[in-house]
Amino acid sequence: MNQTEVPQMKAPLVPLATLIGRELRNEKIEKPFVKYGQAALAKKGEDYFLIKPDCQRIPGNASTSFSVFAIFDGHNGVSAAIFTKESLLNNVLSAIPQGASRDEWLQALPRALVAGFVKTDIEFQKKGETSGTTVTFVVIDGWTVTVASVGDSRCILDTQGGIVSLLTVDHRLEENAEERERVTASGGEVGRLNVFGGNEVGPLRCWPGGLCLSRSIGDTDVGEFIVPIPHVKQVKLSNAGGRLIIASDGIWDALTSDMAAKSCRGLPAELAAKLVVKEALRSRGLKDDTTCLVVDIIPSDHPVPAPTPRKKQNVLSSLIFGKKAHDSMKTSNKLAAVGVVEELFEEGSAMLAERLGRDFPSNASSGLFRCAVCQVDQPPSDGLSVNSGPYFSPTSKPWEGPFLCANCRKKKDAMEGKRPGIPTVIT
Ligand SMILES: [Zn+2]
Repeated sequence: MNQTEVPQMKAPLVPLATLIGRELRNEKIEKPFVKYGQAALAKKGEDYFLIKPDCQRIPGNASTSFSVFAIFDGHNGVSAAIFTKESLLNNVLSAIPQGASRDEWLQALPRALVAGFVKTDIEFQKKGETSGTTVTFVVIDGWTVTVASVGDSRCILDTQGGIVSLLTVDHRLEENAEERERVTASGGEVGRLNVFGGNEVGPLRCWPGGLCLSRSIGDTDVGEFIVPIPHVKQVKLSNAGGRLIIASDGIWDALTSDMAAKSCRGLPAELAAKLVVKEALRSRGLKDDTTCLVVDIIPSDHPVPAPTPRKKQNVLSSLIFGKKAHDSMKTSNKLAAVGVVEELFEEGSAMLAERLGRDFPSNASSGLFRCAVCQVDQPPSDGLSVNSGPYFSPTSKPWEGPFLCANCRKKKDAMEGKRPGIPTVIT
């Protein structure tokens, strides 16, 4: 790691792009092992999971491998969970521009996850079924972990030194005031179940339907303000690695993040998953479907250079300055992070415009635009582009997002609680 031998606290002597390039090459050499285990106990049989350890960014090129782990906790039936398990990964991957480098691919991933979740929800709606599902979807590429989630199946990260962090946000109406506000503003009614005599019982739910979640895939019958737009968090582990525990609420209703992490620390992933399930059952009994994936991201046998004093300095600096450190500090952390998890991205807004950005590529050569959600090419006149603001009512803000086809635009409006009936013809 010669590139770290720049004079301390001075600007790098080599361009940043070169430094990052070198880092990426190093990362390739020291790609971690990913080991995993799974355990589950069914009560209703509506939990599903996905384990894909050998995906490739470039098909046929083993050095571009990444892995995917996901949990789908279904409700009101299993069809949404099964459908999402089968189609979500493809929908996400198809939203990443072709030919992207590893760096570009990782940068495009958060937006592609948003597009893939929404596309999957639109496709499931067409089936006319009423079930729904939570999704916690984890992509691991080298030391970089990207988690997208709707609902309340959490993913936690346990790193060296026993620091446990939550990589997801619970989309439960009871616990999430921001989501309650959003659902109410979009036309949903939030309240508790009324029993005889007007007594209110149980957690806050959305009516009609009585769903406790504010985001999911499916749940067409509840209302479109139950959106499929995921919270996305992307972190880069230090080369000490870490352990992910991904589990349905059967675990988290019984155990805190710390309890789950502690219950299996030091044990191999396969055994760890079983122990977490066992621990949850011990304290609460089998009240719900309970599924747990444990994924260890561990340094490969390749010898890792011992940390130099300079690196230690950086660890200390980053602990002091945290992720808000100024740019040059961030750069040096990026190059020499040891024992520190670096936060690369986090966004949880339910507004599509904020999540998809403005600069989705359009296919200029063909004169067609590509829908940022479903990836279908369409003539500009058939959709919603950055310039179509005036077609909304005068009080609403012009659309500042990327091109959406007519179908996805309708979905966007429905999720925001806007009534259909807005003229769809754009000249
Ligand atoms: Zn579309």
